[in-house]
Amino acid sequence: MKRKLNFYPGPSTLPLSVLEELRDTLVEYHGEGLSLLEASHRGGIYEKVHTDAVSLIRELLEVPAEFSILFLGGGATLQFAMVPLNLLSGGKSCDFVVSGSWAKKALEDAQKIGTVNILYDGASEKYSNLPDTVTCSAKASYLNITSNETIDGVQWPSLPDSGNVPLVVDMSSDIMSRRFSFGNVGVVYAGAQKNLGPAGVTVVIIRKDIVDSSPAELPAYLSYAVHAKQNSLYNTPPSFSIYALKLVLEYIKREGGLKNIEKLATKKSSLIYDAIDSSGGFYKCKVSKGKRSKMNVVFNLPTEDLEKQFLKEAAGQDMLGLPGHRSVGGCRASLYNAVPVEWAETLASFMREFASKNG
Ligand SMILES: *Cc1c(COP(=O)(O)O)cnc(C)c1O
Repeated sequence: MKRKLNFYPGPSTLPLSVLEELRDTLVEYHGEGLSLLEASHRGGIYEKVHTDAVSLIRELLEVPAEFSILFLGGGATLQFAMVPLNLLSGGKSCDFVVSGSWAKKALEDAQKIGTVNILYDGASEKYSNLPDTVTCSAKASYLNITSNETIDGVQWPSLPDSGNVPLVVDMSSDIMSRRFSFGNVGVVYAGAQKNLGPAGVTVVIIRKDIVDSSPAELPAYLSYAVHAKQNSLYNTPPSFSIYALKLVLEYIKREGGLKNIEKLATKKSSLIYDAIDSSGGFYKCKVSKGKRSKMNVVFNLPTEDLEKQFLKEAAGQDMLGLPGHRSVGGCRASLYNAVPVEWAETLASFMREFASKNG
């Protein structure tokens, strides 16, 4: 097979070595006489996969002992509801930075459950910027941010200082792409299908005292306390997705961990941003320079017709997934961990050629 250059925003490209290992172990899992797809989630074969995946997350992200690591279903979208149900019920209030399309979705769910103070709303600037600092409300139970806006191409350069208000961070599209401190973090969550593996599992990293304060009256699946108490085995977890996630984490470790991964992310995104910035205005990125995403590079061409032409020619050269999100149009290159540097180089030189032919 000739692999295409996959710039899809999610589900997105996986390391070839991971796909090959999934293939090699699909029908029979390591001499066990059955596939992991067929194995009980209460049996020893799966148990080791589960435990290893949790340990690898703890090791790679340096998660402190006072945090639980959970594997849940429902995508990051379920967390838009679970976070406020667990942290905001009973007349509490929280703060929000509305940095883009995903933060807005999280906001809409939180507003159904409690009081939300909006500290910053980027809508009037078409989500092209972020605040440099934040000042939380005195009584906020938490501050909700989206570390990387997958659709709008805006990324926090580092997590903001929220004082003694715990941060709730949607890291769906940049988890495992850089190091960060858990200093004032309360909850981190991420759907796996951008940077961690295939769709089906969502990783939630949550401070144990927050788990302990989950309201007892919540339906079981919606309670962090229920999942934490049962080590994410309250019900059947998405076991095969967790297996694939484990293989991706092993790949990240082999690649030198986050220290190297973050260097690669800078290198790949710089290649594309350089192609944009050196095009004499042919390509434009609306995002304020210090807030540009290293995961999802969004850009426009001078006209929609040229954008169509660009996307068509790129597809003709086996470059997939470059159209911007249907809600915003334009173009977007998603450069997650499993995208090799060579793909970014190929795209950057294609962009330069296209600009010189059509500029
Ligand atoms: C993709 C994405 C989501 C939604 O994830 P699902 O797993 O599809 O629910 C939420 N937040 C961000 C930042 C995303 O990129």
